[in-house]
Amino acid sequence: MEANMKTHIAFVSVPIYSHLLSMIEFCKRLIHLHRHFHCTIIIPTVESSGNAQKALLEGLPSTSSIQYIFLPPPNINDVVSHETNPAALVQISMYRSLPNIYEELNKLFVSEMSPVGTVVVDALLDQVVEFANDQNALSFVYFPSTAMMLSLCLYSSELDKAVSCEFKDLTEPIKIPGCVPVHGSDLPDSLQDRSNQEYQIFLQAGQRFHKANGVLVNTFSELEPGPLRAIREGPGPIVYPVGPITQNAAESSTHDCLKWLDKKPHNSVIYVCFGSGGTLSQEQLDELAMGLELSGQNFLWVYKPPSKFGTVADVGAENNDPLQYLPSGFLERTQEQGMVVPFWAPQAQVLNHMAIGGYVCHCGWNSIVESIINGVPLIAWPLFAEQTLNAAMVSDALKVALRPKCKDQGIVERHKIAKLVKRLIRGEEGEAFRHRMNELKLAASKALQEQGSSTRALSEFALKCKSFMNKKTSV
Ligand code: UDP
Repeated sequence: MEANMKTHIAFVSVPIYSHLLSMIEFCKRLIHLHRHFHCTIIIPTVESSGNAQKALLEGLPSTSSIQYIFLPPPNINDVVSHETNPAALVQISMYRSLPNIYEELNKLFVSEMSPVGTVVVDALLDQVVEFANDQNALSFVYFPSTAMMLSLCLYSSELDKAVSCEFKDLTEPIKIPGCVPVHGSDLPDSLQDRSNQEYQIFLQAGQRFHKANGVLVNTFSELEPGPLRAIREGPGPIVYPVGPITQNAAESSTHDCLKWLDKKPHNSVIYVCFGSGGTLSQEQLDELAMGLELSGQNFLWVYKPPSKFGTVADVGAENNDPLQYLPSGFLERTQEQGMVVPFWAPQAQVLNHMAIGGYVCHCGWNSIVESIINGVPLIAWPLFAEQTLNAAMVSDALKVALRPKCKDQGIVERHKIAKLVKRLIRGEEGEAFRHRMNELKLAASKALQEQGSSTRALSEFALKCKSFMNKKTSV
Protein backbone atom coordinates (compact mmCIF):
# COMPACT_ATOMS: atom_id res chain seq x y z
CA MET A 1 0.00 0.00 0.00
CA GLU A 2 1.35 3.43 -0.90
CA ALA A 3 2.62 5.22 2.18
CA ASN A 4 0.28 8.18 1.76
CA MET A 5 -2.79 6.13 0.85
CA LYS A 6 -5.63 6.44 3.36
CA THR A 7 -7.28 3.43 4.96
CA HIS A 8 -10.71 3.44 3.37
CA ILE A 9 -13.70 2.00 5.25
CA ALA A 10 -17.18 1.52 3.78
CA PHE A 11 -20.05 2.09 6.19
CA VAL A 12 -23.58 0.87 5.49
CA SER A 13 -26.30 2.75 7.33
CA VAL A 14 -30.08 2.33 7.51
CA PRO A 15 -32.74 4.95 6.74
CA ILE A 16 -33.39 5.77 10.40
CA TYR A 17 -32.39 9.22 11.65
CA SER A 18 -30.89 8.17 14.98
CA HIS A 19 -28.89 5.29 13.47
CA LEU A 20 -27.44 7.47 10.73
CA LEU A 21 -26.64 10.25 13.19
CA SER A 22 -24.74 7.84 15.42
CA MET A 23 -22.79 6.34 12.52
CA ILE A 24 -21.78 9.78 11.21
CA GLU A 25 -20.60 10.82 14.67
CA PHE A 26 -18.60 7.60 14.90
CA CYS A 27 -16.92 8.37 11.55
CA LYS A 28 -16.12 11.90 12.74
CA ARG A 29 -14.48 10.58 15.88
CA LEU A 30 -12.53 7.93 13.99
CA ILE A 31 -11.13 10.54 11.61
CA HIS A 32 -10.47 13.03 14.37
CA LEU A 33 -8.26 10.47 16.16
CA HIS A 34 -6.87 8.63 13.12
CA ARG A 35 -6.32 11.09 10.32
CA HIS A 36 -5.20 8.50 7.79
CA PHE A 37 -8.73 7.07 7.55
CA HIS A 38 -11.32 7.79 4.92
CA CYS A 39 -15.01 6.82 5.29
CA THR A 40 -17.71 6.31 2.67
CA ILE A 41 -21.23 5.88 4.05
CA ILE A 42 -23.79 4.08 1.88
CA ILE A 43 -27.32 5.08 2.86
CA PRO A 44 -30.51 3.37 1.67
CA THR A 45 -33.52 5.69 1.57
CA VAL A 46 -37.30 5.48 1.90
CA GLU A 47 -39.67 7.30 -0.45
CA SER A 48 -41.59 9.16 2.29
CA SER A 49 -38.72 10.46 4.37
CA GLY A 50 -35.16 11.55 4.35
CA ASN A 51 -35.02 15.36 4.61
CA ALA A 52 -33.66 15.36 8.14
CA GLN A 53 -31.26 12.54 7.29
CA LYS A 54 -29.92 14.41 4.28
CA ALA A 55 -29.45 17.52 6.41
CA LEU A 56 -27.18 15.54 8.73
CA LEU A 57 -24.67 14.97 5.94
CA GLU A 58 -25.08 18.22 4.10
CA GLY A 59 -23.58 19.88 7.20
CA LEU A 60 -20.22 18.18 6.62
CA PRO A 61 -17.48 20.35 5.11
CA SER A 62 -16.69 19.52 1.46
CA THR A 63 -13.10 18.78 2.43
CA SER A 64 -14.22 16.14 4.92
CA SER A 65 -12.77 12.64 4.80
CA ILE A 66 -16.35 11.41 5.09
CA GLN A 67 -18.17 10.84 1.83
CA TYR A 68 -21.64 9.49 1.34
CA ILE A 69 -23.83 7.82 -1.24
CA PHE A 70 -27.62 8.08 -0.92
CA LEU A 71 -29.18 5.15 -2.76
CA PRO A 72 -32.42 5.75 -4.68
CA PRO A 73 -35.51 4.57 -2.76
CA PRO A 74 -36.55 1.11 -4.01
CA ASN A 75 -40.00 0.60 -5.47
CA ILE A 76 -42.22 -0.86 -2.76
CA ASN A 77 -45.62 0.08 -4.19
CA ASP A 78 -46.61 -3.58 -4.45
CA VAL A 79 -46.44 -4.08 -0.66
CA VAL A 80 -47.45 -0.77 0.89
CA SER A 81 -50.58 1.27 1.38
CA HIS A 82 -51.34 4.35 3.50
CA GLU A 83 -52.13 1.86 6.28
CA THR A 84 -48.56 0.53 6.41
CA ASN A 85 -46.65 1.30 9.58
CA PRO A 86 -43.64 3.60 8.84
CA ALA A 87 -41.35 1.11 10.64
CA ALA A 88 -42.37 -1.63 8.17
CA LEU A 89 -41.74 0.77 5.26
CA VAL A 90 -38.20 1.30 6.49
CA GLN A 91 -37.57 -2.41 6.84
CA ILE A 92 -38.91 -3.34 3.39
CA SER A 93 -36.96 -0.50 1.78
CA MET A 94 -33.75 -1.55 3.52
CA TYR A 95 -34.03 -5.14 2.37
CA ARG A 96 -34.92 -4.17 -1.18
CA SER A 97 -31.86 -1.91 -1.25
CA LEU A 98 -29.49 -4.81 -0.63
CA PRO A 99 -28.63 -5.42 -4.33
CA ASN A 100 -27.79 -1.71 -4.67
CA ILE A 101 -25.70 -1.81 -1.50
CA TYR A 102 -23.73 -4.79 -2.81
CA GLU A 103 -23.19 -3.06 -6.13
CA GLU A 104 -21.77 0.05 -4.42
CA LEU A 105 -19.58 -2.06 -2.14
CA ASN A 106 -18.22 -4.00 -5.12
CA LYS A 107 -17.21 -0.71 -6.73
CA LEU A 108 -15.49 0.42 -3.54
CA PHE A 109 -13.57 -2.86 -3.13
CA VAL A 110 -11.82 -2.24 -6.44
CA SER A 111 -11.51 1.54 -6.27
CA GLU A 112 -8.19 2.48 -7.88
CA MET A 113 -7.73 5.56 -5.72
CA SER A 114 -8.34 3.83 -2.42
CA PRO A 115 -9.78 0.30 -2.28
CA VAL A 116 -12.00 -0.59 0.67
CA GLY A 117 -10.84 -3.41 2.93
CA THR A 118 -13.30 -3.07 5.82
CA VAL A 119 -17.09 -2.86 5.87
CA VAL A 120 -18.93 -1.55 8.93
CA VAL A 121 -22.63 -2.20 8.79
CA ASP A 122 -25.50 -0.99 10.96
CA ALA A 123 -26.83 -3.79 13.20
CA LEU A 124 -30.19 -3.76 11.38
CA LEU A 125 -28.59 -4.77 8.06
CA ASP A 126 -26.63 -7.71 9.41
CA GLN A 127 -26.96 -9.57 6.06
CA VAL A 128 -24.12 -7.38 4.79
CA VAL A 129 -21.73 -9.13 7.21
CA GLU A 130 -21.92 -12.33 5.16
CA PHE A 131 -21.48 -10.44 1.90
CA ALA A 132 -18.36 -8.68 3.19
CA ASN A 133 -16.95 -11.98 4.47
CA ASP A 134 -17.55 -13.60 1.07
CA GLN A 135 -15.62 -10.77 -0.57
CA ASN A 136 -12.69 -11.30 1.81
CA ALA A 137 -13.22 -7.95 3.49
CA LEU A 138 -13.15 -7.37 7.26
CA SER A 139 -16.70 -7.08 8.59
CA PHE A 140 -17.80 -5.10 11.63
CA VAL A 141 -21.24 -4.37 13.00
CA TYR A 142 -21.98 -0.86 14.25
CA PHE A 143 -24.35 -1.33 17.17
CA PRO A 144 -25.88 2.06 18.10
CA SER A 145 -27.45 0.67 21.26
CA THR A 146 -26.40 -0.80 24.61
CA ALA A 147 -24.13 -3.73 25.47
CA MET A 148 -27.18 -5.07 27.31
CA MET A 149 -29.12 -5.20 24.05
CA LEU A 150 -26.12 -6.77 22.29
CA SER A 151 -25.87 -9.40 25.03
CA LEU A 152 -29.57 -10.15 24.49
CA CYS A 153 -29.09 -10.44 20.70
CA LEU A 154 -26.20 -12.87 21.11
CA TYR A 155 -28.10 -14.87 23.74
CA SER A 156 -31.48 -14.89 21.96
CA SER A 157 -31.14 -18.33 20.32
CA GLU A 158 -30.41 -19.93 23.68
CA LEU A 159 -33.30 -18.08 25.26
CA ASP A 160 -35.51 -19.30 22.43
CA LYS A 161 -34.63 -22.90 23.24
CA ALA A 162 -35.00 -22.48 27.00
CA VAL A 163 -38.46 -20.85 27.04
CA SER A 164 -41.58 -22.23 25.41
CA CYS A 165 -44.21 -19.57 26.22
CA GLU A 166 -44.34 -15.88 25.31
CA PHE A 167 -41.68 -14.06 27.36
CA LYS A 168 -44.20 -11.59 28.79
CA ASP A 169 -46.08 -14.52 30.37
CA LEU A 170 -43.06 -15.68 32.37
CA THR A 171 -43.48 -15.14 36.09
CA GLU A 172 -39.74 -15.12 36.78
CA PRO A 173 -37.51 -12.32 35.43
CA ILE A 174 -35.16 -13.10 32.52
CA LYS A 175 -31.42 -13.09 33.13
CA ILE A 176 -29.63 -11.71 30.07
CA PRO A 177 -25.92 -12.57 30.53
CA GLY A 178 -24.20 -9.92 32.65
CA CYS A 179 -27.33 -7.77 33.09
CA VAL A 180 -29.88 -6.95 35.79
CA PRO A 181 -32.85 -9.34 35.60
CA VAL A 182 -35.68 -7.94 33.45
CA HIS A 183 -39.32 -8.77 33.12
CA GLY A 184 -40.29 -10.50 29.84
CA SER A 185 -42.52 -7.53 28.94
CA ASP A 186 -39.40 -5.32 28.94
CA LEU A 187 -37.79 -7.24 26.09
CA PRO A 188 -37.85 -5.42 22.71
CA ASP A 189 -41.03 -5.38 20.60
CA SER A 190 -39.68 -7.91 18.13
CA LEU A 191 -39.47 -10.53 20.89
CA GLN A 192 -43.01 -9.97 22.14
CA ASP A 193 -44.75 -12.22 19.60
CA ARG A 194 -42.82 -15.36 18.86
CA SER A 195 -45.03 -16.35 15.92
CA ASN A 196 -44.11 -13.12 14.13
CA GLN A 197 -41.49 -12.83 11.37
CA GLU A 198 -39.76 -10.06 13.34
CA TYR A 199 -38.91 -12.60 15.99
CA GLN A 200 -37.05 -14.83 13.51
CA ILE A 201 -35.24 -11.78 12.06
CA PHE A 202 -34.02 -10.91 15.57
CA LEU A 203 -32.67 -14.43 16.16
CA GLN A 204 -30.94 -14.47 12.75
CA ALA A 205 -29.26 -11.13 13.45
CA GLY A 206 -27.82 -12.52 16.68
CA GLN A 207 -26.38 -15.42 14.70
CA ARG A 208 -24.86 -13.18 12.03
CA PHE A 209 -23.15 -10.98 14.63
CA HIS A 210 -21.12 -14.04 15.57
CA LYS A 211 -19.72 -14.11 12.04
CA ALA A 212 -18.44 -10.53 12.11
CA ASN A 213 -14.83 -9.66 12.91
CA GLY A 214 -16.13 -7.43 15.67
CA VAL A 215 -18.97 -5.31 16.98
CA LEU A 216 -18.53 -1.60 17.73
CA VAL A 217 -20.94 -0.62 20.50
CA ASN A 218 -22.01 2.86 21.55
CA THR A 219 -21.30 2.32 25.23
CA PHE A 220 -18.26 2.47 27.49
CA SER A 221 -16.64 -0.07 29.77
CA GLU A 222 -17.35 1.84 32.97
CA LEU A 223 -21.07 2.18 32.13
CA GLU A 224 -21.84 -1.46 31.36
CA PRO A 225 -19.08 -3.63 32.82
CA GLY A 226 -21.42 -6.61 33.42
CA PRO A 227 -22.77 -7.22 29.89
CA LEU A 228 -19.41 -6.38 28.30
CA ARG A 229 -17.67 -8.94 30.48
CA ALA A 230 -20.36 -11.55 29.71
CA ILE A 231 -19.99 -10.98 25.95
CA ARG A 232 -16.21 -11.24 26.19
CA GLU A 233 -16.42 -14.44 28.20
CA GLY A 234 -18.95 -15.98 25.80
CA PRO A 235 -18.42 -17.36 22.31
CA GLY A 236 -19.50 -14.06 20.75
CA PRO A 237 -17.60 -11.69 18.45
CA ILE A 238 -14.92 -9.27 19.70
CA VAL A 239 -16.65 -6.27 21.20
CA TYR A 240 -15.33 -2.70 20.99
CA PRO A 241 -17.05 -0.29 23.42
CA VAL A 242 -16.31 3.01 21.67
CA GLY A 243 -18.89 5.34 23.23
CA PRO A 244 -20.26 7.68 24.20
CA ILE A 245 -20.72 8.64 20.54
CA THR A 246 -22.99 11.71 20.40
CA GLN A 247 -23.71 14.97 18.61
CA ASN A 248 -21.57 17.91 19.56
CA ALA A 249 -23.39 20.30 21.88
CA ALA A 250 -20.83 23.00 21.09
CA GLU A 251 -22.33 23.51 17.62
CA SER A 252 -24.17 26.80 17.74
CA SER A 253 -27.92 27.13 17.66
CA THR A 254 -30.06 30.23 17.91
CA HIS A 255 -33.30 28.38 18.59
CA ASP A 256 -35.82 30.39 20.65
CA CYS A 257 -36.07 27.61 23.22
CA LEU A 258 -32.42 28.20 24.24
CA LYS A 259 -33.15 31.89 24.81
CA TRP A 260 -36.19 30.88 26.85
CA LEU A 261 -34.03 28.51 28.92
CA ASP A 262 -31.51 31.32 29.55
CA LYS A 263 -34.17 33.04 31.70
CA LYS A 264 -34.90 30.01 33.87
CA PRO A 265 -33.10 29.06 37.10
CA HIS A 266 -30.49 26.30 37.26
CA ASN A 267 -31.96 22.72 37.20
CA SER A 268 -35.53 24.07 37.20
CA VAL A 269 -36.87 22.87 33.84
CA ILE A 270 -38.13 19.43 32.86
CA TYR A 271 -37.42 18.65 29.21
CA VAL A 272 -39.97 16.41 27.43
CA CYS A 273 -39.23 14.72 24.12
CA PHE A 274 -39.96 11.32 22.60
CA GLY A 275 -37.15 11.12 20.08
CA SER A 276 -36.94 11.89 16.40
CA GLY A 277 -40.33 10.43 15.55
CA GLY A 278 -42.15 9.17 18.65
CA THR A 279 -45.70 10.37 19.31
CA LEU A 280 -48.43 9.65 21.86
CA SER A 281 -52.13 8.85 21.51
CA GLN A 282 -54.56 11.74 21.89
CA GLU A 283 -55.62 10.45 25.33
CA GLN A 284 -52.03 10.20 26.56
CA LEU A 285 -51.18 13.59 25.09
CA ASP A 286 -54.03 15.17 27.11
CA GLU A 287 -52.82 13.49 30.31
CA LEU A 288 -49.23 14.62 29.71
CA ALA A 289 -50.25 18.22 29.05
CA MET A 290 -52.43 18.33 32.16
CA GLY A 291 -49.76 16.55 34.22
CA LEU A 292 -47.10 19.09 33.26
CA GLU A 293 -49.46 21.94 34.10
CA LEU A 294 -50.41 20.38 37.45
CA SER A 295 -46.76 19.82 38.40
CA GLY A 296 -46.22 23.58 38.56
CA GLN A 297 -42.66 23.02 37.28
CA ASN A 298 -41.11 24.75 34.29
CA PHE A 299 -41.21 22.58 31.19
CA LEU A 300 -39.84 22.53 27.66
CA TRP A 301 -41.89 20.13 25.56
CA VAL A 302 -40.91 19.03 22.06
CA TYR A 303 -44.34 18.17 20.85
CA LYS A 304 -45.51 16.00 17.97
CA PRO A 305 -49.15 15.54 17.03
CA PRO A 306 -50.73 12.17 17.85
CA SER A 307 -50.44 9.36 15.34
CA LYS A 308 -52.00 5.91 15.26
CA PHE A 309 -48.61 4.38 14.44
CA GLY A 310 -46.84 5.98 17.41
CA THR A 311 -44.37 7.74 15.09
CA VAL A 312 -44.34 10.52 12.55
CA ALA A 313 -42.62 9.51 9.33
CA ASP A 314 -40.53 12.60 8.70
CA VAL A 315 -39.44 14.96 11.44
CA GLY A 316 -39.56 17.91 9.09
CA ALA A 317 -43.06 17.10 7.81
CA GLU A 318 -45.38 20.01 7.14
CA ASN A 319 -48.46 20.23 9.30
CA ASN A 320 -50.76 23.22 9.15
CA ASP A 321 -51.68 23.47 12.81
CA PRO A 322 -49.79 20.84 14.80
CA LEU A 323 -50.77 22.37 18.18
CA GLN A 324 -54.52 21.89 17.60
CA TYR A 325 -54.40 18.57 19.53
CA LEU A 326 -53.40 20.21 22.83
CA PRO A 327 -56.11 20.62 25.51
CA SER A 328 -58.13 23.78 25.12
CA GLY A 329 -56.57 26.79 26.88
CA PHE A 330 -53.40 24.84 27.82
CA LEU A 331 -50.96 27.12 25.98
CA GLU A 332 -52.53 30.27 27.47
CA ARG A 333 -52.56 28.88 31.03
CA THR A 334 -48.95 27.69 30.89
CA GLN A 335 -47.51 30.73 29.11
CA GLU A 336 -45.14 31.55 31.97
CA GLN A 337 -44.48 27.99 33.08
CA GLY A 338 -43.60 26.25 29.86
CA MET A 339 -42.63 26.33 26.23
CA VAL A 340 -44.03 23.97 23.59
CA VAL A 341 -41.83 23.48 20.53
CA PRO A 342 -43.52 21.73 17.61
CA PHE A 343 -41.62 18.76 16.12
CA TRP A 344 -37.97 19.54 16.75
CA ALA A 345 -35.55 21.23 19.16
CA PRO A 346 -31.73 21.25 19.20
CA GLN A 347 -31.65 18.52 21.84
CA ALA A 348 -27.88 18.29 22.25
CA GLN A 349 -27.80 21.99 23.20
CA VAL A 350 -30.96 21.78 25.29
CA LEU A 351 -29.63 18.95 27.46
CA ASN A 352 -26.38 20.86 27.85
CA HIS A 353 -28.22 23.91 29.24
CA MET A 354 -27.85 24.70 32.96
CA ALA A 355 -31.60 25.24 33.34
CA ILE A 356 -32.46 21.62 32.49
CA GLY A 357 -33.02 19.61 35.67
CA GLY A 358 -34.60 16.44 34.26
CA TYR A 359 -35.81 14.77 31.10
CA VAL A 360 -39.03 12.85 30.34
CA CYS A 361 -37.34 10.54 27.88
CA HIS A 362 -38.62 7.86 25.50
CA CYS A 363 -35.38 5.96 26.18
CA GLY A 364 -33.94 6.00 22.68
CA TRP A 365 -30.29 5.21 23.26
CA ASN A 366 -28.91 8.41 21.68
CA SER A 367 -31.09 10.48 23.99
CA ILE A 368 -29.98 8.52 27.05
CA VAL A 369 -26.32 8.92 26.07
CA GLU A 370 -26.87 12.67 25.60
CA SER A 371 -28.42 12.80 29.10
CA ILE A 372 -25.47 10.92 30.57
CA ILE A 373 -22.85 13.24 29.10
CA ASN A 374 -24.78 16.19 30.52
CA GLY A 375 -25.62 14.66 33.90
CA VAL A 376 -29.41 14.95 33.43
CA PRO A 377 -31.62 12.46 35.38
CA LEU A 378 -34.61 10.87 33.66
CA ILE A 379 -38.22 9.88 33.79
CA ALA A 380 -38.15 6.74 31.64
CA TRP A 381 -41.13 6.63 29.31
CA PRO A 382 -40.44 4.01 26.61
CA LEU A 383 -42.62 3.80 23.51
CA PHE A 384 -41.37 1.09 21.14
CA ALA A 385 -38.46 -1.00 19.77
CA GLU A 386 -35.82 -1.71 22.45
CA GLN A 387 -36.78 1.35 24.51
CA THR A 388 -38.41 -0.77 27.25
CA LEU A 389 -35.13 -2.62 27.74
CA ASN A 390 -33.26 0.71 27.92
CA ALA A 391 -35.85 1.92 30.46
CA ALA A 392 -35.18 -1.13 32.62
CA MET A 393 -31.46 -0.43 32.36
CA VAL A 394 -31.63 3.25 33.40
CA SER A 395 -34.06 2.60 36.23
CA ASP A 396 -32.90 -0.78 37.60
CA ALA A 397 -29.21 -1.04 36.65
CA LEU A 398 -27.94 2.55 36.52
CA LYS A 399 -30.51 3.94 38.98
CA VAL A 400 -30.75 7.31 37.29
CA ALA A 401 -34.42 7.27 36.32
CA LEU A 402 -37.94 7.17 37.72
CA ARG A 403 -40.22 4.90 35.77
CA PRO A 404 -44.00 5.47 35.75
CA LYS A 405 -46.37 2.55 36.11
CA CYS A 406 -49.22 2.58 33.61
CA LYS A 407 -52.91 1.86 34.10
CA ASP A 408 -54.20 -1.28 32.36
CA GLN A 409 -54.62 0.31 28.97
CA GLY A 410 -51.10 1.71 29.18
CA ILE A 411 -52.06 5.30 29.99
CA VAL A 412 -50.02 7.29 32.53
CA GLU A 413 -52.45 9.60 34.29
CA ARG A 414 -51.98 13.33 34.91
CA HIS A 415 -51.66 13.18 38.71
CA LYS A 416 -48.97 10.53 38.42
CA ILE A 417 -47.07 12.61 35.85
CA ALA A 418 -47.28 15.73 38.02
CA LYS A 419 -45.94 13.79 41.02
CA LEU A 420 -43.07 12.23 39.05
CA VAL A 421 -41.99 15.57 37.63
CA LYS A 422 -41.96 17.15 41.10
CA ARG A 423 -40.03 14.20 42.54
CA LEU A 424 -37.38 14.46 39.83
CA ILE A 425 -36.95 18.24 39.78
CA ARG A 426 -37.43 19.05 43.45
CA GLY A 427 -37.27 15.82 45.46
CA GLU A 428 -34.41 14.09 47.26
CA GLU A 429 -34.66 11.14 44.88
CA GLY A 430 -34.16 13.45 41.91
CA GLU A 431 -31.12 14.93 43.63
CA ALA A 432 -29.65 11.44 44.20
CA PHE A 433 -30.24 10.54 40.53
CA ARG A 434 -28.61 13.81 39.46
CA HIS A 435 -25.60 13.03 41.61
CA ARG A 436 -25.33 9.54 40.10
CA MET A 437 -25.73 10.94 36.57
CA ASN A 438 -22.90 13.37 37.28
CA GLU A 439 -20.68 10.44 38.26
CA LEU A 440 -21.53 8.76 34.95
CA LYS A 441 -20.85 12.03 33.15
CA LEU A 442 -17.36 12.08 34.62
CA ALA A 443 -16.76 8.42 33.73
CA ALA A 444 -17.96 9.11 30.16
CA SER A 445 -15.56 11.99 29.79
CA LYS A 446 -12.68 9.85 31.11
CA ALA A 447 -13.49 7.06 28.66
CA LEU A 448 -12.96 9.54 25.83
CA GLN A 449 -9.64 10.91 27.06
CA GLU A 450 -6.39 9.99 25.32
CA GLN A 451 -5.81 6.89 27.45
CA GLY A 452 -9.52 6.31 28.14
CA SER A 453 -11.12 2.91 27.61
CA SER A 454 -13.17 3.97 24.55
CA THR A 455 -10.27 5.75 22.87
CA ARG A 456 -8.17 2.61 23.27
CA ALA A 457 -10.97 0.39 21.90
CA LEU A 458 -11.27 2.66 18.87
CA SER A 459 -7.52 2.54 18.31
CA GLU A 460 -7.57 -1.27 18.42
CA PHE A 461 -10.26 -1.26 15.74
CA ALA A 462 -8.30 1.25 13.63
CA LEU A 463 -5.13 -0.78 13.92
CA LYS A 464 -6.92 -3.94 12.83
CA CYS A 465 -8.33 -2.23 9.72
CA LYS A 466 -4.98 -0.67 8.85
CA SER A 467 -2.91 -3.83 9.24
CA PHE A 468 -5.47 -5.85 7.28
CA MET A 469 -5.21 -3.41 4.39
CA ASN A 470 -1.41 -3.30 4.59
CA LYS A 471 -1.27 -7.10 4.38
CA LYS A 472 -3.80 -7.23 1.56
CA THR A 473 -1.99 -4.72 -0.63
CA SER A 474 1.46 -6.18 0.03
CA VAL A 475 0.59 -9.62 -1.41
N1 UDP B 1 -33.38 14.86 18.45
C1 UDP B 1 -33.17 16.21 18.36
N2 UDP B 1 -34.26 17.03 18.49
C2 UDP B 1 -35.52 16.55 18.70
C3 UDP B 1 -35.71 15.16 18.78
C4 UDP B 1 -34.61 14.34 18.68
O1 UDP B 1 -32.06 16.70 18.17
O2 UDP B 1 -36.44 17.36 18.81
C5 UDP B 1 -32.20 13.97 18.32
C6 UDP B 1 -31.71 13.54 19.69
O3 UDP B 1 -30.83 14.51 20.22
C7 UDP B 1 -31.07 12.20 19.40
C8 UDP B 1 -31.88 11.68 18.22
O4 UDP B 1 -32.56 12.78 17.65
O5 UDP B 1 -29.73 12.38 19.03
C9 UDP B 1 -32.92 10.66 18.65
O6 UDP B 1 -32.29 9.44 18.81
P1 UDP B 1 -32.77 8.37 19.88
O7 UDP B 1 -31.89 7.18 19.71
O8 UDP B 1 -32.80 8.95 21.23
O9 UDP B 1 -34.26 8.05 19.53
P2 UDP B 1 -35.09 7.67 18.20
O10 UDP B 1 -35.21 8.88 17.38
O11 UDP B 1 -34.36 6.57 17.51
O12 UDP B 1 -36.40 7.23 18.75
